[in-house]
Order: sequence, then C-alpha cells, then structure tokens
Amino acid sequence: MIPVNEPLLDGKELEYVSECIKTGWISSAGKFINEFEEKWAAYCGMKHGVAVCNGTVALELAVEVLHLPHGSEIILPSFTIISCAQAITKSGCVPVVVDCEPDTWCMDVGQVEKAITAKTKAIMPVHIYGHPVDMDPIMDLAGEHGLIIIEDAAEVHGAEYKGKKCGGIGHLSCFSFFANKIITTGEGGMVLTNDDRLADKLRSYRNLCFQGKQRFLHEEIGHNYRFTNVQAAIGLAQLERIEETIERKRAMARQYNLGLRGLPVRLPVERPWAKNVYWMYGFVIDDKMGFDAKELAKRLRASGVETRPFFLGIHEQPVLKKVGLFENISLPITERIARQGLYLPSGQAITDEQIEYVIEKVRKGFASVIDGEG
Ligand SMILES: *Cc1c(COP(=O)(O)O)cnc(C)c1O
Repeated sequence: MIPVNEPLLDGKELEYVSECIKTGWISSAGKFINEFEEKWAAYCGMKHGVAVCNGTVALELAVEVLHLPHGSEIILPSFTIISCAQAITKSGCVPVVVDCEPDTWCMDVGQVEKAITAKTKAIMPVHIYGHPVDMDPIMDLAGEHGLIIIEDAAEVHGAEYKGKKCGGIGHLSCFSFFANKIITTGEGGMVLTNDDRLADKLRSYRNLCFQGKQRFLHEEIGHNYRFTNVQAAIGLAQLERIEETIERKRAMARQYNLGLRGLPVRLPVERPWAKNVYWMYGFVIDDKMGFDAKELAKRLRASGVETRPFFLGIHEQPVLKKVGLFENISLPITERIARQGLYLPSGQAITDEQIEYVIEKVRKGFASVIDGEG
C-alpha cells in the first residue's frame, strides 16, 4: 500500500534528539524550544512564536487570549477541519461560515463582508492544502470594521501571498506540526503574533498561568499546552531543510499535474499572486461523472493506493448542527467538493516511481467509468 503520507526525517533530527537525551533536556525547557520558536517566527516574518503541543490548541489559545464577549461572531470558511470551529465555540463565540472558491478551495473572500454583523469580532482565514487565501481584502475588512485576523496556516508552511509568508499577515497565526504537515515535530503547534501583550498572554495560558513574582498564586485559569525540547529538536532539523522540501512538494505537484492531464477532474491551481506549496495533492471529480470520491478511493485502495477524502464542511457537522448552529445554511461548493474531492499520496517520503504508479492507477480507475466497463 502506498500511504497517503509518510514523513521524511533524514536531516539532523536524530543528532538533535540524541543531544536532548544525552543532556537530559527532554521536557518543556531546553535550548531547542526558544530556538525553534524564534526561527519559525522569523521565517514567517512575525515577532513572537509560542510553541504548543498541537495545532488544535494553538487555535484554541489564539481565540481564548482575545477575551471576546460571549456570543461574539467569528467568520471562517466552512471547508476546514473541526479544530477551527471548536476553537471558536470553546471560547463562547459563534462560528459564522462562508463558502469556498471552486478552484483554490480557500474561503471565498467576496462572501465575508456580507457575513459581518455588529457582533463580528474576528475572521479566521484558513489556507487550504498549500494554497493561500486572498488576504488583502480580508485585511482591508479588518481595518474598516476593527476585526482581528487569526490565520490558520497549518497547511501552508512556506507558502506565499504576494511575496509574504502565510502566517505572517494576520494579527495572530496558528500552525500545526503534526506528522503529515510540511514541517513536523510528531505532534506540535505554534501561535505567532507581532503583539507583545498577546504573546505574553499566550505564554501564560500555555503554562497554567503561573506567575513570575509568586509562582503558585493564580489570577487566571490556563492550560498545560506545553511543547517539549525533543519536539523542538525535530522541528529545527526539519526547518533547516524547508526550502528543499518545498521544492520537492512543487515538483511532485508538477508530476501529478502532467500525469493526470485530461481526466474529468479539477486539478489544483496557483493564483498569479500565490506560491502554492501543495501540502496535499488533491483534485475534485467532475459532477457529470456520476462517480464520487468514495468510489474512486475504493478502487484505488484495491490497487494499493491510499487516499483521503476532502473535509466535510463545518456547516454539515452533526455535533454543531445538534446545538442549533447552521440551520438552513447551504454552501454548494463546500458540499460538492466534500463529496467529489480526494487527495493522493503526497508525503515527503514518496518516490517519483510511486507517483507514476499512483497516476497509472488513477487513470485506470477513471478508464472503467469513461469506457462504461464498470
Ligand atoms: C492539521 C490542521 C489543524 C490541526 O492541527 P493538529 O496539530 O492536528 O491539532 C488545524 N487546522 C488545519 C487547517 C489543519 O490542517
């Protein structure tokens, strides 16, 4: 079976992790943590980096430290992972969803302005599968309406919007370093910001709101969302190779684009202002095929190729509908790509030969429907 993702740990990961073990610095203090926070923030063009134990809690912390009034609305794309919505609801805020674009699969920024009400306090753009959101109109709205922008940049390490790194544009940005992300630390995440006050709050909330003056005196309730020196050691080794990794991702996408040309699918795009890092190589099957992603996934699995379906929109999630959210909301593009989209093996450990094999199997999977054989 060709796995949908396999990480590549062939730099100095082992050397740096060994150093943690030899010196005993394996927990949430140690030199690699600060170094990783500083280097990642600098790479993205932000002042502060606060590393946490995963990307989901990075989003939760980013919303929490804003201390928004109960019932505040935050606008986000429906086409994203559940982490985004639960970060909003856990802080007592309300997720307000918009549809996505049919080709970049990113939030349709044209729909955001119409979704703004007197209760709107923030926008959470999510850069999808390696492609940046069109950020200028979002930042303009933020200025006009006094809104906070929280970028979810978990899927776009190193991607660029008009020459700026994704995750370096909003007031806060959140990253995941899960095993399938472009830079991984196994599990891990980070919040970036230029705001000194928010950075202090993030650090405090990450670590149970201990205080400098009197450690075991607490004025606020925080969390244990700490990141370890071992994770940071892996992350630093990964970061040393990021340019190479991104080049490899882009080369993989070119190979898939070429190999899948002419099939009844919509392949990934790259807007003129974007640098796409093709985190996962996905496509959307034409509706007319009478053939959905589930069916293709089944055929590919039978020939040894693992795939993943696209996200199911937030507005279709039973757990959120159950509490009365998103009644009578329909977002046709999100709904369609959730059913017609899937992504192919595109982890860093995949070889060109394996990609050729996947291309051949995808073509075969379509041939049987196109020729009416089955
Ligand atoms: C992976 C991912 C997350 C969650 O990160 P975890 O580290 O798995 O908690 C959040 N947002 C997006 C867009 C992601 O792809």
